[in-house]
Amino acid sequence: MSRPLRVAVVGSGPSGMYAADALVGQEDIPVSVDIIDRLPSPFGLVRYGVAPDHLSIRSVRDTLDRVLDHPAVRFVGNVEVGVDLTLGQLREFYDAIVLTYGASRDRALGIPGENLAGSIAATDFVNWYTGHPDTPTDAFVDFLATSSSVAVIGVGNVAVDVTRVLSKAPGEIEHTDMPEHVFAALRGSRVRDVHLVGRRGPAQATWTTKELRELGELEETGVLVAEGAAVDDTASQAAIAEDKAVARNVKVVEEWAARPEDDRGRHIHLHFRCRPVEILGTDRVEGLVVETTVLDGSGQASGTGQTHVIPVDAVIRSVGYRGTALEGVPFDERRSVIPNREGRVVEGESVVPGLYVAGWIKRGPTGIIGTNKKDAVQTINCLLADYADPTAWSAARPAPEAVDEALAGRTVVPTDGWRRIDAAERALGASRGRDRTTIHQRDGLLAAADAGQ
Ligand SMILES: Cc1cc2nc3c(=O)[nH]c(=O)nc-3n(C[C@H](O)[C@H](O)[C@H](O)COP(=O)(O)OP(=O)(O)OC[C@H]3O[C@@H](n4cnc5c(N)ncnc54)[C@H](O)[C@@H]3O)c2cc1C
Repeated sequence: MSRPLRVAVVGSGPSGMYAADALVGQEDIPVSVDIIDRLPSPFGLVRYGVAPDHLSIRSVRDTLDRVLDHPAVRFVGNVEVGVDLTLGQLREFYDAIVLTYGASRDRALGIPGENLAGSIAATDFVNWYTGHPDTPTDAFVDFLATSSSVAVIGVGNVAVDVTRVLSKAPGEIEHTDMPEHVFAALRGSRVRDVHLVGRRGPAQATWTTKELRELGELEETGVLVAEGAAVDDTASQAAIAEDKAVARNVKVVEEWAARPEDDRGRHIHLHFRCRPVEILGTDRVEGLVVETTVLDGSGQASGTGQTHVIPVDAVIRSVGYRGTALEGVPFDERRSVIPNREGRVVEGESVVPGLYVAGWIKRGPTGIIGTNKKDAVQTINCLLADYADPTAWSAARPAPEAVDEALAGRTVVPTDGWRRIDAAERALGASRGRDRTTIHQRDGLLAAADAGQ
């Protein structure tokens, strides 16, 4: 065999890193893998999604980082596919392309008032508190300083993360890698009440019990069950009987409901069976109108026509994530994913040769980090099967330098550039008595990547 199979992995989140790991972890076909990311730092939502106070989950990045130690793997950071490199160029430079660019855009509620000042997407707030370089430093300083009562719409783990970050005392969060300006803004926060709002009941919530329970363990904030927590309908009863995780979630909510009134000054209020129908306000949010719902036999909610106002001056929507299309790649608009069969990209009934997909952009925003490993392995098994015969692919391709030549003039962050960012963040953290402090500005990341060069 004259040369290794050249593979581009687009996106360095868990699915991209697991895909690269599966490629270099086999010995049948020699490979070289470039992991291209639009950001100067790898790991996608493990860095810019997973809550900074969940230290053990965030430590997954140490495992992912080891993939970059492999001599056949290169990190090509600060390069956006579709902008800095086209899909056509990738097709010229690589034998196969694995798209793992995630699905981290927010979904809208589609109700009146959604664009008022004080109504924001959880994605933007999460990006800000994790130090994403696309989010301005001061993006939510005013939001926190001027909001006292916030509705968080959604009943998944992201809604729980956002609620917890808004409700923790400074001492409960300032050991994390959040940037310093985020701590300063959280210290200046006037938020005292957070209303978690779900369309259905506690048996239909998608949060996990461990995350939910944490809300009841905060130093300065109590939990109140405000409305709609009854599970006396047939769908909820069936869900509790069939699924232990559901039964545990419901039990936590029932325990909170039975607690004596918490007289601390800060509260999380749980509102179930409340469908948001309008955000009130003229210049900024002044209230959230919700309609009481009932559940049918399959657990679907329908409105009763009865509405009331939850008194809030800010709204954070956390109702799901969606993927976006990449030019030249088939896209399923309805599901917001790239259509595929076990990871082979398809257009109609036909497989698109050389194009693969893994992770959230393959299956949608579901599962835990580990789900992406199984998913990426399935994709890479297909890829390896397709390239099992080297005579079919090894004849003609540009030299490996072709991609570097195409990127001449662009500030690319290679693996050792990322290593320097990593070292700089650890040093910054150590200077403040922490393990790490995230460098949040792109210029700062690029300067750290280049330091000493
Ligand atoms: C707020 C939040 C909290 C979460 N918390 C947890 C948790 O506690 N535990 C858990 O198990 N799971 C958690 N998850 C889920 C987990 O993060 C995902 O399962 C996982 O990150 C999906 O991996 P991915 O590689 O498909 O996508 P991503 O992690 O989104 O990675 C995609 C990568 O592609 C890059 N990219 C995008 N477009 C381009 C382009 N055009 N060119 C080049 N690069 C591009 C991005 O910069 C990014 O690095 C959380 C998710 C969110 C949103």
